[in-house]
Amino acid sequence: MKTSIFGKFQKLAERVDTLRVSGRLPFGLQMDEMLSQTRARIGNREVLLAGTNNYLGLTFDTDVMEAAKAAIDAQGTATTGSRLANGSYAAHLDLEERLKEYFEVPSAIVCTTGYQANLAAISALAGRGDHLLLDADSHACIYDAARLSDADTIRFRHNSPADLDKRLSRLPKEGGRLVVIEGLYSMFGDVAPVAEFVEVAHAHGAMLFVDEAHSVGCYGERGRGVAQAQGVADKVDFISGTFSKSFASIGGFCVSRHVELELIRMVSRPYLFTASGSPSNVAAAQAALVKIAGEPQLGQALWDRVHQLYDGLTEAGFEPISPAAPIIAIPRPDEQVAVAEWNRLMDAGVYVNLAVPPATPQSKSLLRLSVSAAHSEADIDEVLAGFRSLLEDGAPAPSMAASGS
Ligand code: PMP
Repeated sequence: MKTSIFGKFQKLAERVDTLRVSGRLPFGLQMDEMLSQTRARIGNREVLLAGTNNYLGLTFDTDVMEAAKAAIDAQGTATTGSRLANGSYAAHLDLEERLKEYFEVPSAIVCTTGYQANLAAISALAGRGDHLLLDADSHACIYDAARLSDADTIRFRHNSPADLDKRLSRLPKEGGRLVVIEGLYSMFGDVAPVAEFVEVAHAHGAMLFVDEAHSVGCYGERGRGVAQAQGVADKVDFISGTFSKSFASIGGFCVSRHVELELIRMVSRPYLFTASGSPSNVAAAQAALVKIAGEPQLGQALWDRVHQLYDGLTEAGFEPISPAAPIIAIPRPDEQVAVAEWNRLMDAGVYVNLAVPPATPQSKSLLRLSVSAAHSEADIDEVLAGFRSLLEDGAPAPSMAASGS
């Protein structure tokens, strides 16, 4: 008998059905109307958004919106082709110049998404005969980049320079070595010891690539990320990032202190074979960069709200996995509890991310929050009230969070 190609999805379909509580599915939720950076109408009610990655709240910033609109008026809605085939627009090149200035590096490549930036850079940099060393908790696109590359891939223990050291010492002398880590990890909200990784990588002749998708805009002087905050931005070999979070747009980039990064434009398939970023996206990212670099009060507002939320959650008895960060992950005992609590938060008018395996490290089920500079003190109080309501009868005691970890 022939097997249907859909057969393999049967178990998944059953699991999705169990996650659908009273007709509401936590993934791919329909936002009926975006009311602001922090509010949406879902169905007939207004919901406070505490899971958007809109760290600086710039998606409704007047200057960013005006820049995007002006770009459409001047350049149209799309580029309709790749940079190699159709040519780069001046705006792509200009944004690359601005990124070079911002990161103080000689090389920058703008891509259409952050996913593509990692795929393009990592898969081209690590080739046949090279070794690619990935932090075990790396984002899916880093793993996908490894699949696309012809390099031998080795995983090392999450955030463990000691484990990386051990694995690098066992490698044969031949071939290049590229180590990939993230600045701020998207699920647990934990920060990498980038300075220690730089030392270990360079001691073994390896280059270090840091994905700062979640950390640019949030950490470091002028928001330049975790490597900068730890004083090693000039030693890190490659930094990638996205325009889909603090930059309030769509797109991605890779920058480097090595001018040779430019060479990958000629060979990297994910760079070569996809359409370039649309004029409005590029313009929004550029306008946001001006704000990220020049308006430190945005970062200050973000961190004020981070501490308010983090302190409120811990005072209530919740136990976030990591120290205070713009991403706060609360582990729950299992998927059923997490789903039930996610729904209770929605009933209370608070949207957070539900994160469950396989998207999470260590098979954890999480309620994941992300904080925005656009959240007011009253917004954070509202989120906290939602979480406190979980502790009323029927909810597991917060201490169970620890037993789930
Ligand atoms: N890297 C990390 C660590 C991410 O979390 C993400 C997306 N959430 C990406 C890269 C991809 O970014 P984009 O959404 O721009 O494709």
